[in-house]
Amino acid sequence: MADDLVFLSDLQAGHSSSTVEVRLLRSWDARTLRRGGERMSVEMLLLDSQATMMPASVNVNRLATHQTNLEAGTVYSLTGFEVTRCNQDYRLSDSSLLIRFTDSTTFEKITDPAVPIPLESFRFRNYSEMLRLANSNNQLPDLIGKITAVKSTITEPPLDKNRVSATIKMDNDTSVTLTLFDAQAVKIHNQLAQMAVDPRICVATSVNPRMVGGRLFFNGTAGTHIHFDVETVAGESLFSSGLLEQDTGLAPVGRLVRSFAKVETLSIAELNDFVLNASSQNIDFICTGKVTGIKLDKGWCYVSCAKCFRKLHRSVSSLTCLSCNNTDAVGILRYCVEISIADETGEGLFVAFDGVMAKLHNMRAHEAVNLLPGNDVNPEESDAPQFVLDMEGNTYTFQVKVGPYNFTANNHSFTISRILGEGDPEPQPAFVDDGAADDNGDDNNDV
Ligand SMILES: [Zn+2]
Repeated sequence: MADDLVFLSDLQAGHSSSTVEVRLLRSWDARTLRRGGERMSVEMLLLDSQATMMPASVNVNRLATHQTNLEAGTVYSLTGFEVTRCNQDYRLSDSSLLIRFTDSTTFEKITDPAVPIPLESFRFRNYSEMLRLANSNNQLPDLIGKITAVKSTITEPPLDKNRVSATIKMDNDTSVTLTLFDAQAVKIHNQLAQMAVDPRICVATSVNPRMVGGRLFFNGTAGTHIHFDVETVAGESLFSSGLLEQDTGLAPVGRLVRSFAKVETLSIAELNDFVLNASSQNIDFICTGKVTGIKLDKGWCYVSCAKCFRKLHRSVSSLTCLSCNNTDAVGILRYCVEISIADETGEGLFVAFDGVMAKLHNMRAHEAVNLLPGNDVNPEESDAPQFVLDMEGNTYTFQVKVGPYNFTANNHSFTISRILGEGDPEPQPAFVDDGAADDNGDDNNDV
């Protein structure tokens, strides 16, 4: 067969009876998009002696033959395969072709390729090249940089909707954020938690660059593998370049990732960024900021259904709850106050519901009505009580409940789930799936 030995760059679309000698750089499962989706294929990246990289795919039906044989880093002799054009979006290599295993494919380990094959190959791009690729969905390049901080939402045991974000300092000293999701997040979290010394260099393969709010973010993909420090030759050369010695005062990564059990504190700019960049999830954060305005376009309270807490619809003679399908509902007055809050990084719109306001002011909404001048029939249309208006200018530290709503285009405000007073214990993470009640029984901003 040695006569038929060709290079990856010689391949053309169609059935190939030639042999290529390749190193399997890495492999991963391709699954259907649904969470916990079924495996459709195993995808691979192959490298030959000319340093040509090409993706390859093994359909799930053929895995029985090949899967036990797939070892990253190993060199194989590959014969009897199909060559097709690869997906032109999210390209994993510079080649426009893809190798598809067929029933007649043989993929056999060899120890002595005709020409030595490099150990690794990456498609690193520098910061300005990444800027050009961002949001194009054309390429999934590789990222290398210094890892300076890690944030993790993972609890013990890991729950659904996990996320690990790392701050990576790129070639021009600009910090970017790399975010991994779900199983990849759990894996990297555990790896970091077990490392005796915090890693300094991070190589992340096949990441998707996104530009959001003038900042560069990278999302992990199915093909993303993470290598630390000297696990790669590329990382080792950056590691030993001496550049690291210039850094001082870096936050130790491991310590950060190990402190995940607390609710994270975010600046308001980070909170705004988070809902733009992370995947939809339920998560709580702590923010501190000064009230810059009380928004009264929608009033300060509403008449809620005593049963379901949703807003009642008022007709001349009765109150109707559409949710409970009750035209004669019992109404309870509840607070709902929109507040703009700013810190030095930015401003956000928040909403404080009944439980939060009542606790803060030690007064229920129906009691507050008594403080209002006059005798309005519809208190929800009256001016806010003075103590509500007086919140402006105050600085609060508060817990924010971020939910799926905040990740939608309708995102209007963040729900304050509690305001922390002095001496309050550090809040513990409250990871809830959905439908969980917040303090007012109304888990959204849709009152
Ligand atoms: Zn109701």
